[in-house]
Amino acid sequence: MTAERTASCRCGQLRATVTGDPVRVSVCHCLDCQKRSSSVFAAQVRFPAEAVTTDGKASAYAHSGGGGNVARFHFCPSCGDTLFFTNDNAPETIAIPMGAFDDPYFVRPNYSVWEQRKHPWVEISDAIEHFD
Ligand SMILES: [Zn+2]
Ligand SMILES: [Zn+2]
Repeated sequence: MTAERTASCRCGQLRATVTGDPVRVSVCHCLDCQKRSSSVFAAQVRFPAEAVTTDGKASAYAHSGGGGNVARFHFCPSCGDTLFFTNDNAPETIAIPMGAFDDPYFVRPNYSVWEQRKHPWVEISDAIEHFD
C-alpha cells in the first residue's frame, strides 16, 4: 500500500495530498527562501507532479530568480500560507514546504543548500549533504 500524506494551510482551506515517496528533501538557506518562509531557512519536500493533488482555492505568485528561472508559489488567499511551489525549469516536480504537512515529522532532509547564506548559529547535521 502506498503511503498517502496530507498538507494544508493554517486555515485549512487549501490542501494537498501526496502519494509515495518524495524525490528530494532539502533545506535551503538562500535569501529568496528566507523571504518566502519568513524564517532563516526553509525545508521543502519535492514529489513527482503526478503524485500531488490539491484541493481548494490558490493564488499564485511568480518569482524570477537568478538566470531567468521562474518559480511559482501557490498560496491560500485567506491565510496567505504558501502550500506548494513549482519551478518552470523542472515542471515534473512539485515542492511542498515541510512544515505544511499535517504530520511534518515523516521525513528528514538529504541536502542542505546555499550554505554560504546560512546563519552562523544554525547547525545542520553531518548526516545531511552540505552544499554552498
Ligand atoms: Zn488558508
Ligand atoms: Zn532557496
